[in-house]
Amino acid sequence: GSKNANDLTADSRSNTSSEDDKELPASEKSLLQKIVRTGLITSKHDIEVQRQDPKSPLYSIKSFELLKLHPNLLKGVYEMGYNAPSKIQETALPLLLANPPQNLIAQSQSGTGKTAAFVLAMLSRVDPEHQYPQVVCLSPTYELAIQTGEVAAKMSTYCPNIRLRYAVRGEDVEKGSKIEEQIIVGTPGKVLDWATKYKFFDPKKIKVFVLDEADIMVDTQGHQDQSFRIRKLLPETCQMMFFSATYTEDVMRFANAIAPMSVIIRLKREEETLDNIKQYYVNCNNKEDKYNALVNIYGGVTIGQAMIFCQTKKMALWLVNQMVEQGHAVALLSGELTVQQRISVLDRFREGKEKVLVTTNVLSRGIDIEQVTIVINFDLPVTVTREPDYDTYLHRIGRTGRFGKKGIAINLVSGHSDHILLKHIEEHFCKPIECLNTDNADDME
Ligand code: ADP
Repeated sequence: GSKNANDLTADSRSNTSSEDDKELPASEKSLLQKIVRTGLITSKHDIEVQRQDPKSPLYSIKSFELLKLHPNLLKGVYEMGYNAPSKIQETALPLLLANPPQNLIAQSQSGTGKTAAFVLAMLSRVDPEHQYPQVVCLSPTYELAIQTGEVAAKMSTYCPNIRLRYAVRGEDVEKGSKIEEQIIVGTPGKVLDWATKYKFFDPKKIKVFVLDEADIMVDTQGHQDQSFRIRKLLPETCQMMFFSATYTEDVMRFANAIAPMSVIIRLKREEETLDNIKQYYVNCNNKEDKYNALVNIYGGVTIGQAMIFCQTKKMALWLVNQMVEQGHAVALLSGELTVQQRISVLDRFREGKEKVLVTTNVLSRGIDIEQVTIVINFDLPVTVTREPDYDTYLHRIGRTGRFGKKGIAINLVSGHSDHILLKHIEEHFCKPIECLNTDNADDME
């Protein structure tokens, strides 16, 4: 596994789930995280700043008012429920809005406010009087581009003259015509085609170039090259904004090539902890027994929602079928669903339409849904060599600081080998895992 906690990419690669349950691609994980997110991830860490040009100004702001935004833009920001800048925004926004423009490389985990920061900067740099593209924002996938575009649309509710065009699959521009929207949000290949092959816009007129989810781009064939080729078409004076959730050597090489002489800001990942989690185990003889324990637990829980993790897709399916047969409303999130299906499963769960979500290792980290009060390990997480998978255990059960709420984790164990795994997990985290008797309702309180 990876020792660098900031390195989500390496981290997710080390996640060894069973072979019939493939890991989701990073771009899909990122998308799902955006969709299930209910708010900012707050961080106790301090921003680290590195300046390649010591003359570049540096300060942080504690309120959006201090940014001297256009009143209509400020109104949009407040209407989105943003009262104060997030930690990353405190430092990033003054730089992004500075004159003369500064290049910025920013790294922080997903959910810390990067998108909101660059969308605000994009919107405030646009001159709505001109009807041609002035901002280009690259995202690694269709879905991520749409997510960004939707944030821009919301934030610009009171700026009716600012318009956005998606450069993604399925979008077409009439041959020989010119794009009039001021902002283009799209995927690298499509944007490159529109700039070079079709000349739908003049790249020399671009003032702001944003590269989002750079770590995913680095891992996608062709994206780096396409991004460079777009970059080369831009004027010297174009402001470069580069965002990534991780900080690997590959990402930084890419960053420095796209955005030279940048101010680099980083915010350390907020680690998950088991501090507020009460951990239990239930002795079971077999999977039917586990199922009964589960139903007892489910019956005993009146508030909140539960997430149940299985090690294989097959087990998850079996469990869901059992539950549905007995009339329980359960949702299943598994690897073979399409992106749209996954979004709808998670939306329904977040809205409380189902109280229980059964899932495999497709998404251990990231489904940090506030209402989830109980996490049940139907199977203990193990690596391919059947060692205890501590990272996955922590991601499934641990919470980041943001909710500060208490949670309950219940491990269903059957057989000697499970007990050994459990002992290892207990020792690894130095936190007791207590025995729970599900026949006794009093134990459940
Ligand atoms: P990232 O791009 O780093 O993943 P986002 O910009 O998508 O982060 O922000 C994460 C979540 O927090 C989103 O739901 C967003 O609407 C919300 N958010 C962003 N900035 C603020 C803020 N200043 N105050 C409150 N919520 C915010």
